[in-house]
Amino acid sequence: MIIVWGNKHVYRTIGFVADFCPLCRGIKGFLLRRVGLAGHVYYITSGEGKLVGYQRTCEGCKTIFNADAEKYASVIKKAASLDDLLHQTYPTLPIVIAERLALEEKVKNTPALLSSSERQELLRAPFALLSPKIEKQFARLQFDKEIGFSMVGVIVFLMIFPTLLQNFFPKHQEESLLIFIALSLIFLGWQFFTARQRFIRHQIIPVLAKAIRPLNPTESEMKSILDEMRQQKHKMGSKLKIDDLIDQLQNSN
Ligand SMILES: [Zn+2]
Repeated sequence: MIIVWGNKHVYRTIGFVADFCPLCRGIKGFLLRRVGLAGHVYYITSGEGKLVGYQRTCEGCKTIFNADAEKYASVIKKAASLDDLLHQTYPTLPIVIAERLALEEKVKNTPALLSSSERQELLRAPFALLSPKIEKQFARLQFDKEIGFSMVGVIVFLMIFPTLLQNFFPKHQEESLLIFIALSLIFLGWQFFTARQRFIRHQIIPVLAKAIRPLNPTESEMKSILDEMRQQKHKMGSKLKIDDLIDQLQNSN
């Protein structure tokens, strides 16, 4: 008998805090979670494991960042408003990040006044922040709702197909069933093949476009960032289609 054992990450929700999100370009509510590393047997763990860190998930764009739990005055279960959350969990934040908030004001109101290095940095950061999300997704088996629906569709059809065949093609039942199974496999294979592109289109591009839209980037600026990422072997550089990003930037203005 093979016993499956090892270590795995255990996440425990602690509560909500206010913090700055560089993708939403402002102060947002975050879900704070403790990350522990615990031994597992057959992926079943007991306890929350040894502390390895904290992470915060932005309530606006759902991006996960590493967190320093020590800096929050408190963590609360749920605040009535963002002001309330800020006041209770991180009242000094507007002072701590005053410089960044001033820069974001400039992005919003007078982007033409940004220096070229400020602009480059503000444009590059969202790509760099979202790249790990793509790397993580590409490292695991792709399974999304489209694949789920396709599989259910194939199974349901396989249940009713033999009866249909009996009624309409009584002489070619076996051949028809084999053709159907072959077509289903091709269809499911295609769904798996395109799942990664769907992930980028649905989970990455809307957040990325929202973050860079205030800077009104040109196609060549975005292209050079993606080229650079490709050279540095970031999957984002080769898998993110610039046309999809341009469409998103134009369509949801
Ligand atoms: Zn955000």
